[in-house]
Amino acid sequence: MQTITIAKGDGIGPEIMDATLKIMTAAEARVKFETIEIGEKVYLSGNTSGIGKEAWDSIRKNKVFLKSPITTPQGGGYKSLNVTMRKALGLYANIRPCKSFHPFIATKHPNMDVVIIRENEEDLYAGIEHQQTDEVVQCLKLISRPGCEKIIRYAFEYARLYKRKKVSCFVKDNIMKHTDGLFHKVFKEIAAEYPDIKADSWIIDIAAARLADTPEIFEVIVTPNLYGDVVSDIAAQISGSVGLAGSANIGDQCAMFEAIHGSAPDIAGKNIANPTGLLKGAILMLNHIGQQDVAERIKNAWLCTIEEGIHTADIFKEGVSKQLVGTQEFADAVINRLGKKPEVFKATEYEKGVQLNIPKYQRKHASTKVLKGVDIFVDWKGGEANKLAEQLEKLNNDIRLTMITNRGVKVWPDGFEETFCTDHWRCRFEVSNGAPAEKNSILKIMTQALEEKIDVIKTENLYEFDGVKGYSLGQGQ
Ligand code: NAD
Repeated sequence: MQTITIAKGDGIGPEIMDATLKIMTAAEARVKFETIEIGEKVYLSGNTSGIGKEAWDSIRKNKVFLKSPITTPQGGGYKSLNVTMRKALGLYANIRPCKSFHPFIATKHPNMDVVIIRENEEDLYAGIEHQQTDEVVQCLKLISRPGCEKIIRYAFEYARLYKRKKVSCFVKDNIMKHTDGLFHKVFKEIAAEYPDIKADSWIIDIAAARLADTPEIFEVIVTPNLYGDVVSDIAAQISGSVGLAGSANIGDQCAMFEAIHGSAPDIAGKNIANPTGLLKGAILMLNHIGQQDVAERIKNAWLCTIEEGIHTADIFKEGVSKQLVGTQEFADAVINRLGKKPEVFKATEYEKGVQLNIPKYQRKHASTKVLKGVDIFVDWKGGEANKLAEQLEKLNNDIRLTMITNRGVKVWPDGFEETFCTDHWRCRFEVSNGAPAEKNSILKIMTQALEEKIDVIKTENLYEFDGVKGYSLGQGQ
């Protein structure tokens, strides 16, 4: 018997959790449940994280957590509990299988069977945001090599274990050459270690369009956090309903399983929600804890229920569906079919006793890091770049002003008068003779700027790593 932590959540959460637990118990899952309280009630009691110490203790002790959706109250500085949990527990991989169940669940994509593996901790979800001027706010996009290696290796190991033939990488490295560029570079490095699996790379915009149009060309998709968030909802929706997909959040020590949809307050308490998303989360969980026999029994009973046309309202279709049922009746129908194999769908067979084994990240040798200058960000409302340049050129040092950009576009030297400028200027100072810059030069520039009453709001050092520029050029430079 393995003890797992469960949370019934908010909205439709308690109904779909009750249905899921009833099915697991009837399927003789070798698990005991320990219930914790998280979500709306905890938030409204004054805890802005939505989770208390006892709940954390339970999850960290049991290491496996099945979670119903929760409601994050609007406004009031409440932190997203999901983001907090993924990051605090190091749940770096988010896995969302999206498959269509044609002809029993209406979909334009009868042959869709794609697994989205989303990086879960980094990217714009680092939550590091600042207002720097009256008119400009920023959000830092952080991508790390260990973050990329872990998720991409996970995707290839997953593909190998579940006999998928291809892994596709979705990025936007034509624009974000350093952040998405790193993700893509690591993808190519790791793909080379898996010659048995095909690998291809896509720019996220056309990739998302193709996923919505011809999802059958994809098998496993690996992608940074934000794109993964968006494309996995698209994939779940076009497979039939957001109510159908479950997801696993996997870390080195803990794992959390859930439905991908939210707490659906519009249908809460009416016994009409589809419990499938959470049930799929439970099936992923049972596989994860080595109870593939139970996972298989539940999955096949669910397939029987669907192909016999016993459907909840979200997937009910006149002419295809036979019986409209509520949440609990759907659960009973699955229970009544435990032990049966589907006749139209292919029966699911999970390989027993297998587990994903992801090698630990090995830090590479440190590269040679050489300081080449500094980007100084300035709050300035004077409008014309030439005037700002005049002031900045007075800051005399061994690093000199080489470029000013406004929202990334070069406006000095030789800017266009058509370029709109806000009050946020990036002023690049670089060494002129190719020699390394001194850290002290940056301090001197800052002191001089202070004396000239220039409002510096932040700096970014410009480094070369093993002779390669670690910073982007200005647009138009
Ligand atoms: P939602 O996923 O709750 O609902 C979107 C639509 O899908 C609604 O029309 C809903 O009725 C329907 N739907 C969702 N699940 C269904 C199911 N199982 N069966 C049938 N229909 C279903 O998204 P939302 O309305 O944007 O968010 C509602 C709340 O959920 C918000 O407070 C949000 O913060 C929260 N949320 C939580 C999670 C989570 O805990 N993992 C994820 C997303 C949203």
